[in-house]
Amino acid sequence: MTNTNNLITSIFRKEVLAMSAYKVVDAQGLIKLDAMENPYSWPEDIKNEWLDALKDCQLNRYPDPEARHLTQTIKHLNQLSDQFGVLLGNGSDEIIQLLLMALPETASVLAPAPGFVMYKQLSDGLGLNYQGIPLLADTFDLDLPAMLAAIEQHQPSVIFLAYPNNPTGNLFSETSILEIVKTAKGLVVIDEAYAPFAHASFINALEQNNNLLVMRTVSKLGLAGLRLGYIIGNPAIIEQLNKIRLPYNINSLTQISADFALSNKMLFDQQTQKICAERAVVLSRLNELDGITAYPSAANFILFRTPENKATEIFLSIKRQGVLIKDLSAQGGLLSDCLRVTIGKPEENMAFLAALRKSLAPH
Ligand SMILES: *Cc1c(COP(=O)(O)O)cnc(C)c1O
Repeated sequence: MTNTNNLITSIFRKEVLAMSAYKVVDAQGLIKLDAMENPYSWPEDIKNEWLDALKDCQLNRYPDPEARHLTQTIKHLNQLSDQFGVLLGNGSDEIIQLLLMALPETASVLAPAPGFVMYKQLSDGLGLNYQGIPLLADTFDLDLPAMLAAIEQHQPSVIFLAYPNNPTGNLFSETSILEIVKTAKGLVVIDEAYAPFAHASFINALEQNNNLLVMRTVSKLGLAGLRLGYIIGNPAIIEQLNKIRLPYNINSLTQISADFALSNKMLFDQQTQKICAERAVVLSRLNELDGITAYPSAANFILFRTPENKATEIFLSIKRQGVLIKDLSAQGGLLSDCLRVTIGKPEENMAFLAALRKSLAPH
């Protein structure tokens, strides 16, 4: 028997050894405004209908490996013609992972920075060459010349563009995105995780661009517990991804529940409208505060900047007052001094604002 350290270093890739696991903070007992969840649940009668639908679930059988019924519901929901392929994932995180797993070891992956952390986390874990290209400091929009230069230099196999972007909340310029899609020789994935709050999409650009893929998730819409994402695009590309997908990646309970929920989309429309209305309230309240700069958002969260070198102290003070948000300041760069708050129910947002005001008050 060798010593455990030697065992580990001899077995695992150096990239894995160098990583740390994605940590989720324990939110027990706190108002949870850290993870872009929809704060609303369903009315009792809808819950009962859902439970009725689940009664027919045959847990002794493997799920439908193609999730055919749910896929049809998703196609219908997005008014997709049959010319496009759709692949479902255990969250869109799994789809990002699938896509990256299919690339050669030497491949490059490119995304704006700051961006969604899983692009880098999963690329690093697979030993791919990940490049984060800084956004413009004042608007958080794409730095188009820098992006085009990086594409020329690194010839990325995949470019991820979150639209709206997490954690900045803005929609990148549409013409910049289209220019990137036209220039790139690899794939461009538009990650529309926050589409329900944005009323903007690149689905209509799929037909004209065979290297373009649009990825969505039901997580931010209000079904984070189900773990379901999907990617739409060129069926020949989707077919390649399908080869490395685990056959039963979408479990039976998720298939039935997501099908049920997405067929009751009106429910979510009301909830997302409420969240968007609250987003405007929270943004203006934040910007009334001395020392706080809050950035406009097309998503269900708001990024805001605190006075210099105070972000973590403010974050902890808010947490001690019972509200959990997200401290991004340690990432540095454009996120120095920045915190991010998810839009919750009105009373939760008020509790957050009160806690923030208190944390800013002179002691
Ligand atoms: C939350 C988020 C995801 C992950 O979604 P899941 O479907 O829950 O895995 C993907 N992309 C962006 C930009 C996100 O913010």
